[in-house]
Amino acid sequence: MNRNKTILEAHALRRHYQVKRGLFRAPAIVKAVDGASFTVTAGRTLAVVGESGCGKSTLARLLTRIEAPTDGALLFAGRDVTAVPKTQEKALRRAVQMVFQNPYGSLNPRQKVADILAEPLLINTGMPRAERRDRAVAMMAKVGLRPDQADRYPHMFSGGQRQRIAIARALMLDPRVVVADEPVSALDISIQAQVLNLMMDLQDELGLAYVFISHDLSVVRHIADEVMVMYLGRPVEQGPKDAIFADPRHPYTKALLAAMPRVHRGGAPEVTPLTGELPSPMDPPPGCTFHKRCPLAQPRCAAEVPEARALDGRVVACHLA
Ligand code: SF4
Repeated sequence: MNRNKTILEAHALRRHYQVKRGLFRAPAIVKAVDGASFTVTAGRTLAVVGESGCGKSTLARLLTRIEAPTDGALLFAGRDVTAVPKTQEKALRRAVQMVFQNPYGSLNPRQKVADILAEPLLINTGMPRAERRDRAVAMMAKVGLRPDQADRYPHMFSGGQRQRIAIARALMLDPRVVVADEPVSALDISIQAQVLNLMMDLQDELGLAYVFISHDLSVVRHIADEVMVMYLGRPVEQGPKDAIFADPRHPYTKALLAAMPRVHRGGAPEVTPLTGELPSPMDPPPGCTFHKRCPLAQPRCAAEVPEARALDGRVVACHLA
């Protein structure tokens, strides 16, 4: 496994939806993802951060090819994923796997764990049944479950164990990238750390790249190497985790960090924590979409969309940064 190599690249990725607004009104265009550019590196974690509705989950669906982008480019190992021949699509889908937030909903309650884990092999390989089961049991051990639990059903496990099963299932086809959408937010705090540590151990062992989607900056601080902060479909600040946590430059990033429990941050908050609601993505404010909530907003902010620009080792989209 070649660590530190770029495995996934997004260039100005967009996903827009047309939404009907009644008989006499023109349809609205919802820009769920609107120009996201980033790279994902083997053996490292890119955390995508923002409030609910900022486009994080749509981005996850684009990366795993559950949905196609409206515009922009997505490259896997240097190849444009929208242009791969049909014969290679399956291999590409195997290489990028997903872990969902809710391990209760994402596991079939009528399947035994060994069958849940063996199913991707059944669908994607011609592997004999006995070998599929051996692989499933071996993967259970890798994620901290016992082989004698192989014939149990999901409801017989705790929430943390169920998320271990979901992670094991995502790894059955030896992916290069795992997109994890709020993978620990349904778990108790004490269990969250165990699952995060498991993910980090697996990353070390297998050289996996993670795209880790979360609204929880405490969790992001624990697991991320790089951070991309999104607001209403657009990245507003992105760069190395340490730089962003130590010295955030976008007012939205500052507000998110100021809202973190003090024990994780140290020192006093520099700005008032975030107030007001996220605007409707059907009717976003003009100019900088954050201007109605931004304590530093100027008249220019309501008129001009700030361009993303490089600044002190990160990229920021703010007129005043
Ligand atoms: Fe605030 Fe203006 Fe920067 Fe937007 S561009 S974040 S409104 S200062």
